[in-house]
Amino acid sequence: MSITTFTEEHTEGYNLQWKIKSILHQEKSAYQEITVADTVQFGRCLILDGAMQITVQDAFIYHELMAHICLASHRQPRNVLIIGGGDGGIIKEVLKHPMVEKVTLVEIDERVVALSKKYLPEFSRSLDHPKVSVVIQDGFDFIAKHQNHFDVILVDSSDPSGPAAPLFSKKFYQLVQEALKQEGIFTAQIGSPLFELDKLKTVYERVKSLFPIARYYMASIPTYSTGPYSLIYGSKGIDPLSPRDVPYLEGLTQYYTPEIHRAAFALPPFIHNAIVGK
Ligand code: SAM
Repeated sequence: MSITTFTEEHTEGYNLQWKIKSILHQEKSAYQEITVADTVQFGRCLILDGAMQITVQDAFIYHELMAHICLASHRQPRNVLIIGGGDGGIIKEVLKHPMVEKVTLVEIDERVVALSKKYLPEFSRSLDHPKVSVVIQDGFDFIAKHQNHFDVILVDSSDPSGPAAPLFSKKFYQLVQEALKQEGIFTAQIGSPLFELDKLKTVYERVKSLFPIARYYMASIPTYSTGPYSLIYGSKGIDPLSPRDVPYLEGLTQYYTPEIHRAAFALPPFIHNAIVGK
């Protein structure tokens, strides 16, 4: 077996290097360069435009954190929208909540969905569930056509360059706010506090200006490798620090527990002071 390497150019002066057993697929889609590879340490992975997106080994941390924090906070999450997430990993977690009736996934790139179906079945199996509809469209355009419609919106996008850039704009957060019902909740991945504190502060302020409750939460995810990785939570009224009991998740999660739920919102002072203020 010949081992090659993939170098992720993360930030000026900071690269990550992965040992790769094999490249399973590589192509340039209409939106991005897509690579599916088998890594030595983290199993199969999806790389978009040279940025590592998910690995089979640790994606559960990110998927569980994004899905269960919102779904356990909402009192009756029935209608869920996911923007991005064409691999299906977030859907897999959302479907663990029996009260969810309908999940719509809006992914811009049909090739991500097709390649995930072929190479990443542990995530993509969920895409074929009868409660799930997959829409191939720009999430920005889709959400602009929906008002007062969803209980929960989960934004599992790539980083803010290329097709995902508009998903970090104030206009997009306003459209999310309008697309949510009265008790609605949303979350989005927003990046690394150690590398992108200014960006995180800008996102926090945009969300805070539109939602009565805006909170920042974190987990360490080895694939993203930069220490804590962060998400933003916005809601029209439900505080995530008082989640519902979710006994049905017991035994079904590898990362999420009610204790982890609350702990994820604990911020060290260098992050709290820079983002939320002193
Ligand atoms: N969890 C990963 C991370 O944080 O690195 C991201 C997962 S990856 C599946 C994100 C997906 O968002 C990609 O499949 C990409 O095609 C999709 N995406 C990017 N921009 C989008 C847009 N404007 N509308 C819908 N999907 C988009």
